[in-house]
Amino acid sequence: MSENSTIQKTVIILGSGCAGLTAAIYTARANLNPLVIEGKQPGGQLTTTSEVENFPGFPEGVDGFMLMDNLRKQSARFGTEFANDLIESVELDGPKKILKAGSRTYEADTLIVATGASPRLLGIPGEQQMFGGKGVTTCATCDGAFYRDMEVAVVGGGDSACEEALFLTRFCSKVYLVHRRDELRASKIMADRAINHEKIEVLWNTIPVSANEDENGQLKSINTQNTVTGEAGELAIKGLFIAIGHIPNTQPFAGKLTLDDEGYFIPENGSQVLTNVPGVFVAGDCADHKYRQAITAAGMGCQAAIEAERWLAEQ
Ligand code: NAP
Repeated sequence: MSENSTIQKTVIILGSGCAGLTAAIYTARANLNPLVIEGKQPGGQLTTTSEVENFPGFPEGVDGFMLMDNLRKQSARFGTEFANDLIESVELDGPKKILKAGSRTYEADTLIVATGASPRLLGIPGEQQMFGGKGVTTCATCDGAFYRDMEVAVVGGGDSACEEALFLTRFCSKVYLVHRRDELRASKIMADRAINHEKIEVLWNTIPVSANEDENGQLKSINTQNTVTGEAGELAIKGLFIAIGHIPNTQPFAGKLTLDDEGYFIPENGSQVLTNVPGVFVAGDCADHKYRQAITAAGMGCQAAIEAERWLAEQ
């Protein structure tokens, strides 16, 4: 594929997580020869998870990378093509949906946007090195069971942080909830549950400032700082769960598709996947800040593909 080329397709799917690849399987099996533009994290968020135990059909669990690789192969088997590009701008007004990545242009009759959401990270030293399998994670549902009988910390003060902390009490011996203020942002019921749980200790006015590794490269502690007094501390923990919100990957679509205040797509007409632009569909975490599960994203990918097929048939 040359740098200055224009690529024309019937169906383009933006994103290669569970939603995008499921949409690819369905549209490929409908002989629509889709092109998946994989983006900056081919395979999406699951590729950073060591083991997935809650995706139906895998009684022993499945490695996240393996699951995504299998979805990719399954979609390729029916004729899906792949490109690796970061789309910078889009034009959705005309009959062709136009996507631009540098000097390359993509044109599609129909577009499925499944660009996902990226967990917001702290940006502290050690976080990146130990992310995904070495003690730092953003998903208690995915990784909590690996920290059985261990002490862990959750960072954040919203509903997600409380939910993650409460979920982790099922496995962990102790859960520190590290919050930068003296009041939780979470709904009262969630906050009360977390504060009153015997295994949860809230560290108020506290932020992590570094994540420290042991001789095997695994997390052994975090250094903390009190946001009021400036006092430094160290917390010996095996798991650091970051729950400080997500950033939906929808930036190129601002002003073109309807977004809520946080930047998530707002689907139209009571559907989960229709948008305000005919022929453009959304699926997965970029349009879902509530469930955010692999299986729900796959379900939305399937819906978007079926809607795209029907829309093309009507044209
Ligand atoms: P959120 O409500 O935006 O909360 C993010 C939390 O992270 C806040 O407490 C914030 O602190 C903290 N934070 C942000 N950046 C930080 C940083 N750099 N360092 C340290 N702390 C930082 O996000 P969320 O909890 O993911 O919830 C998102 C939405 O989903 C909300 O509307 C929530 O109600 C909803 N949700 C609902 C449920 C449920 O009902 N069961 C479960 C999960 C999520 P400050 O408070 O100081 O700003």
